[in-house]
Amino acid sequence: MNYEVIIVGGGPVGMTLAGELALAGVKNCVLERLKSTISQSRALTAHPRTLEQLDLRGLKDKLNGKPLPTGHFAALDTRLDFSVLKSSSNYTLYIPQHDTEKVLEEWAISLGADIRREVEVISVGQDEEGVAIVASGTQGEFKLTANYLVGADGARSLVRKQAGIPFTGTSETLTGMLGDVELDNPPEFGVLSSYNEYGQLMVVPMAKGMYRIVLIDAERKSVPKEEPVTFEELRSSVERMIGNDLGMRSPSWLSRYGNATLQADRYREGRIFLVGDAAHIHFPAGGQGMNVGIQEAVNLGWKLAAALRGWAPKWLLDSYHNERFPINTALLKNTIVQTFLMGGEFSPRMIELRAMLSDLLQVPEANAQLAAQISAFNIRYETDNQAPEHPLNGVRFPALNLHLDGGTCSAYDLFRAGGFVLLNFVADEGFEQAIRGLNLPHVQIIRASIKENYSEWKDVHTALIRPDGYVAWAISHTETQSKDIIKQGIHRWCGEYKGLLTV
Ligand SMILES: Cc1cc2nc3c(=O)[nH]c(=O)nc-3n(C[C@H](O)[C@H](O)[C@H](O)COP(=O)(O)OP(=O)(O)OC[C@H]3O[C@@H](n4cnc5c(N)ncnc54)[C@H](O)[C@@H]3O)c2cc1C
Repeated sequence: MNYEVIIVGGGPVGMTLAGELALAGVKNCVLERLKSTISQSRALTAHPRTLEQLDLRGLKDKLNGKPLPTGHFAALDTRLDFSVLKSSSNYTLYIPQHDTEKVLEEWAISLGADIRREVEVISVGQDEEGVAIVASGTQGEFKLTANYLVGADGARSLVRKQAGIPFTGTSETLTGMLGDVELDNPPEFGVLSSYNEYGQLMVVPMAKGMYRIVLIDAERKSVPKEEPVTFEELRSSVERMIGNDLGMRSPSWLSRYGNATLQADRYREGRIFLVGDAAHIHFPAGGQGMNVGIQEAVNLGWKLAAALRGWAPKWLLDSYHNERFPINTALLKNTIVQTFLMGGEFSPRMIELRAMLSDLLQVPEANAQLAAQISAFNIRYETDNQAPEHPLNGVRFPALNLHLDGGTCSAYDLFRAGGFVLLNFVADEGFEQAIRGLNLPHVQIIRASIKENYSEWKDVHTALIRPDGYVAWAISHTETQSKDIIKQGIHRWCGEYKGLLTV
């Protein structure tokens, strides 16, 4: 085999996966047809959970963007207040996709991933032993083999098609326009949102004095996405909607995008996996596509590494589809609803409905629910039905501030190497016996106490945290069988338990 994993496509999702695999010591390559990172800004928003997961690997601070404490749902007047999320990443980071991609690519390269640009994959295949691809590069055609193949090759994914995985959903019925421009008269408060009978418009600040204008023009929403946007078209749409053109000039990118909403029927076919836009596409409402893709890559990386290193429990590789498919089904639903609210009809009753929903969003509980959804804080994976029930099982692990023997740290610092963390808050005999002789290099044992008040963590005796920052299981102080539960819990998730030989 040439590689352990071949990744087709070096967008933000492929690069994240390459870094995750390289971190776990997996020999991988990215085959990308573009010579360099895209020049368009595309995804502008890095959302709270994405920022947290990048923080796990020490990457969050490398993103040089503009933080705003809000997000949006359907561009309603009341913006989502992310500052209520209990996290140091409780904001949207506005940063152009090419900047995010560069950070991810540099990270992957620094860890040893082989990034091969100007290479177009033209066919993929698999058998029981492995996968093979044929690609065309500057030196002509060549073949590569690997144990696994991942399609991170975007919406038109060749990998998805050649793996025979159907892409199911609804086709385009509506389009929006965008322009990255300079503004002589920018909105007073940074973000501008407008909705009336002429259409829906949002203006958000980008770096270096640029602004992104996104809109759905009531008169132009049936224009197919393939038809290029002209500056004059964008300018006259904005003028019609808000009565002036904000002094826009110097467009650096104009584009039209559609609401085709499709999802791969399965994210795995034998040795082939799909991530990111290759697995799902939707209207870019709420700025979620790249975010979920990066989160998928972080979900899949350690699982592939586990399979390759021989310690993966049987169910682990399939848990990628089982965990992520329902999340993206919900994502597609929320974008369909948002698209309807933003561009379904520009009528007095829609104006009323939007006003009503906007009022409702001022209710803290309503904000909290939608903010948790768009930020991806509401994710709960349910894979371990053999662990005793605990409210933290399957949920996101927060960046607790911990007291350790040698001082204090953010719990996220413990995930730089990409392994499991077994976090113990009660160093009793049960725990000591459970870990005696434990010899799994991918499991870090940490005895700690929590610095601040995290009420939901108050009763935790021990928790096993997955490499992607989710709680595999947690047990409470009142658990009487802690020794066996911890032992079996480690074994179930992290492979062979070598601790039975007591010392
Ligand atoms: C207008 C617009 C605004 C958006 N705004 C946001 C936002 O604010 N927030 C957000 O989260 N998301 C946003 N998105 C969505 C986001 O851009 C995508 O979800 C994201 O790019 C998906 O990343 P990816 O790596 O899966 O795929 P892509 O970025 O599409 O990357 C796929 C890569 O695969 C390569 N490739 C394809 N086929 C082959 C082949 N056969 N051989 C070799 N290489 C191949 C391509 O060249 C490409 O580089 C927006 C999208 C649009 C269109």
